[in-house]
Amino acid sequence: MSDAATPLFHGLFLDPQRASAREGWLHVKDGRIEALLDAPPAGGPPAVELDGWVIPGLIDAHVHLCLDGGTDPGARLRGETPTDTVVRALGHLRAHLRAGITTLRDLGGPDGFALDLARAVDDGRVAGPRVIASGRNITMTGGHAHATGIEADGPDAVRRAARSQLKAGAQVVKFMATGGVMTPGVRAGAEALTEAELRAGIEEAHKAGRRTAAHAQGLAGIKNALRAGIDTLEHGAFDGWDDEALARMTDPQRPVWLVPTLAAPDGILSGEGRVPAWAVAKTRPIAERHKANALEAFRAGARVAAGTDAGTPLNPHGGLARELELLAAIGLPLDAVLRAATSEAAAALDLEGEAGCLTAGARADLVVLGADPTRDVGAYRQVRAVVQAGRLLTD
Ligand SMILES: [Zn+2]
Repeated sequence: MSDAATPLFHGLFLDPQRASAREGWLHVKDGRIEALLDAPPAGGPPAVELDGWVIPGLIDAHVHLCLDGGTDPGARLRGETPTDTVVRALGHLRAHLRAGITTLRDLGGPDGFALDLARAVDDGRVAGPRVIASGRNITMTGGHAHATGIEADGPDAVRRAARSQLKAGAQVVKFMATGGVMTPGVRAGAEALTEAELRAGIEEAHKAGRRTAAHAQGLAGIKNALRAGIDTLEHGAFDGWDDEALARMTDPQRPVWLVPTLAAPDGILSGEGRVPAWAVAKTRPIAERHKANALEAFRAGARVAAGTDAGTPLNPHGGLARELELLAAIGLPLDAVLRAATSEAAAALDLEGEAGCLTAGARADLVVLGADPTRDVGAYRQVRAVVQAGRLLTD
């Protein structure tokens, strides 16, 4: 008899840390991987066939569940009730899951919103990927995303803001180290929170055992975040790296991940005439350098995690496949693309050994693809089945 609590899956498993796929039998117990075996276990239950290439559940390291990925997500959010936003976000969670994303990191939204969604998924009250949420972003007065963020000036105020989000249950704390594209009137890449402010906030997160993320686009702000001890750098280098920034990005003693979010400018530029003109005008001059700088950091040895910035204009939830195609198009090898969306993203989110791998003890999250993703980046668009915590999802 096959026991729903201890299923056995048979298929072609592709461990992101290995060169090639191999046939295996994956034994699951209590929603976790018990073992990946080369032969069926004697006396085991009949195996559930997974027809295709089986990889760990995908991870999108940068989304905004409060934004709809339409032509003007900010206007939509401002024009609806908080209840509407929650109902809409339930659909976004399902879209991620259908696309094989079993873990995502929400990097900013209204007060409590993604933190409550994270708890609801955790408790099994709503369907969705595991959510690692930052709560509200911490930004300087008038800085990027100040409409939903906490405005804080001076190290003490930033420290207090970080503590407030940790108290609210944030699993990661997000800081605005520079201006950004999607806030009208704010110059993208302009230095924002100072090194001292960032250091105070990051210190609080690290004291609580939590990771930190910085929205960082211009070099001065990037270096402030790196010197202050940031864990993940979102977007990255519009005006190029320098030796100090690359040395810090590749320091094995102090790992930092770059989350390029190439899908964000790609979405904005695909919608000229439909998305707000100011967003297109701010994106066009930096889009090509953004790609070149992401590749330069990767080639220098920086660790890259995949994240879409889903929810921004024409950047729909569940669209990680597009980000992976863009990472491949700029020159990342396909095995590095796979790791960026699995093992590297897991490490960036402090989920090493828990997600993004096929090792014993990890949650049994799997995606079955219709092609080998280390040979064809289009494989991520061919999701045949999704397994979450050992359970084969039917929708
Ligand atoms: Zn973002």
